[in-house]
Amino acid sequence: MRITKPTKKKKKIGPVGVVILAVVILGPLAAAGVGALFLMEDMEKPTVALYPLIDAVSLKKEFTVKAEDPGSGIKSIVVTAGQGLKKYTVLRKSYDALQKAVLETFSLEKAELRGGEFDLQVVVTDGSFFNFGAGNSARIDRRMTLDMAPPNVRPLTPTHYMRQGGVGLVVYTVSKEPERSGVMVGDRFFPGFKQDSGSYLCLFAYPRDMEAEDYKPRLYAEDRAGNERTGFFVNMAIKRRFKEERVEISDEFLAAKMPAFAAQYPEARDPVALFLKVNGDQRRKDEAVLRDLGRKTSPKPLWNGPFIYLPGSSVLGSFGAERAYVYKGEQIDRQYHMGIDLASTPKAAVPAANDGVVVFAGDMGLYGKTVVIDHGLGLQTLYGHLSQIDVKAGDAVAKGRIIGRTGTTGLAFGDHLHFGVVLSGLEVIPIEWWDAKWLEDNVTQKIRRFGGEIPQ
Ligand SMILES: [Zn+2]
Repeated sequence: MRITKPTKKKKKIGPVGVVILAVVILGPLAAAGVGALFLMEDMEKPTVALYPLIDAVSLKKEFTVKAEDPGSGIKSIVVTAGQGLKKYTVLRKSYDALQKAVLETFSLEKAELRGGEFDLQVVVTDGSFFNFGAGNSARIDRRMTLDMAPPNVRPLTPTHYMRQGGVGLVVYTVSKEPERSGVMVGDRFFPGFKQDSGSYLCLFAYPRDMEAEDYKPRLYAEDRAGNERTGFFVNMAIKRRFKEERVEISDEFLAAKMPAFAAQYPEARDPVALFLKVNGDQRRKDEAVLRDLGRKTSPKPLWNGPFIYLPGSSVLGSFGAERAYVYKGEQIDRQYHMGIDLASTPKAAVPAANDGVVVFAGDMGLYGKTVVIDHGLGLQTLYGHLSQIDVKAGDAVAKGRIIGRTGTTGLAFGDHLHFGVVLSGLEVIPIEWWDAKWLEDNVTQKIRRFGGEIPQ
């Protein structure tokens, strides 16, 4: 890869100097002094860069060309791919209005290349009158390899019993180092993580809101060249029945909870409208935060045996319940409840459900004061509505360590803990992780048999 840098040849010549130069050099053509001015205007070359910086590509891989010329502007970009005597233009752009900076993308799909080596050439020309009007140009020449062989992805674990709202573990191998691999469920991606054994572990979910007939998880691997492969693996999708819960919204509740959100949704004209904004829009925003946190995960399992729950607590609200929100006898909203609400005594001490690293400690929309602990492989636990937080992001915590106290922050009805198990940003059913037998049969045993370090 070569990135052509601007050559600093431009000399500082003032208008007087230019005129003298024009007279001296051009002599009888002194009348062309104006032209000489243009000639001197921009002798700087444009700059050009090509991404990604890889040597092997597929026909589908998307390239980005970045060209800049703050002086006279970019006039054209031409990208060609040559193999043997054949040359194919894969991108040709010219700009009527000269551009200071341009970003263009292209792929090799239109080039009739065969697998093997080829030469990629990018030529960028600016709009200066240099070279008697042809402009300055910068170019990149790269010898590359066209790789059209997708990686092979093969499951090692035989069968996966997936309960709606729950999680499974697939162990698989990939024939060549992938750029990314894992399991696709609809448009959700659950990443797999390479272990020292060379095989990959991937925890993936059967989302609560997906019907059994639509649940078709696929193994997925993409290599650096951009070749993709999806693979079937055996899944038994087991439907689960979820509760319906009725939540009464009182004026007292709105008066107590809504002021904290008013500044974020100034368009809401009354407390009920504001509640609907918070219960809908804010919920989606919180989901986006959880998806980002899901990427901050250890590539190895950090948990150690079954997860624990809030001691001495009873279940106030169950996972996956479809909640009808009722105000003055009328249903105003419906949402899925994606955690378990556990109630103990007010301000009860909350233990970390398992070993891990705190990835979030602070305010999170509906959940109020919240802690999120990463347990590796995309698996995290969430503790919402806390009155007090006793840890900070980055802290390593052991199972049972007190991380805070229950409370009523966020959209909480009375003192309780919203406990969530989150997989790559999606809340999944917590009970599986509390259940020693489920954990052994569905996770630990598979890791022990098919590769990777075993969580105790
Ligand atoms: Zn809850």
